[in-house]
Amino acid sequence: MSNNGPVHILLVEDELNIARGLMFNLEEEGYRVTHVEDGQSALDRLASNSWALVILDLSLPGMDGLEVVRAIREADQRLPVLILTARTGEADRLKGLSMGADDYMTKPFSLDEFLLRVQGMLRRSRWYRPEPVEGEIYRFGSNHIDLEEGKAWTAEGEMKLTDLEVRMLRIFFEQEGKVLSRPELLQRVWGVSPETETRTLDNFIVRLRRYFEPDPSHPIHFLTVRGRGYRFHSQGTEEGS
Ligand code: CA
Repeated sequence: MSNNGPVHILLVEDELNIARGLMFNLEEEGYRVTHVEDGQSALDRLASNSWALVILDLSLPGMDGLEVVRAIREADQRLPVLILTARTGEADRLKGLSMGADDYMTKPFSLDEFLLRVQGMLRRSRWYRPEPVEGEIYRFGSNHIDLEEGKAWTAEGEMKLTDLEVRMLRIFFEQEGKVLSRPELLQRVWGVSPETETRTLDNFIVRLRRYFEPDPSHPIHFLTVRGRGYRFHSQGTEEGS
C-alpha cells in the first residue's frame, strides 16, 4: 500500500443508482474511486493499476461476480475484496468467501456500516501487507517469524519451519481475522480435495498452537470457529473460539 495520494478503490456495480451513491460517499471520505459496470472491465482495470480495495457486486451482466473473485485471487492473494450482494442465499455468500473474498454485505445495507467496513478492511490490509523493509517478518505474542527464511523465534527459542508450516502461516497472516474454512486450508496448503485428510489439518493446527500459543490448550491466536474453520489473530483474542 502506497502512502502517496488517496487510496484507490475499484467499484464493480451494474446498478448505477447504487454505484453513484457509493462513489459519492467514498469520495466524501477522501478515497479515490473508479467505477466499472462488469467483471471483464474490472479485471482489465485490475491488471493495469494498483488498488487498495475492490468492492464487487455479485450479480453482474456477463461474467459472474464469483468468477471475478476467483480471477482476482489467482492474480493477487492479498487485495481486499468486499462483496455486495442482493442474494440472501447462504451458499453464494459462503462461496464468495471461500473463493477468497474478505467480507460481504447484503443489500440493502446501511451506508454507515458500509463505510466502517471499508475503513476496517483498508486498515487491516495496511497492517498485514508486509512492509518492504521488513520482508516477510511477522510478530505476534512473543513470536517472531521470518517466512522468507523459514525460521521462527518463540518463547521456546529458535526453530526451523517446514515448507507446509510456512505456507499455512502465510495464509493465516495474509488473511488475519478471516475465517478460513477447512476445505480452503486443505486445498491451499496441501492441494488436496476437501473430502480427504481432515485429520491432517487438525493435527497441524495443534502443532502450530504448541509452537506459538502461550497456552496451547486455550488458544488466543489460532482459533477454532466452530463449524466453519479456523481464524488467526495476532493480537490474541478468545472471541469465536
Ligand atoms: Ca447487480
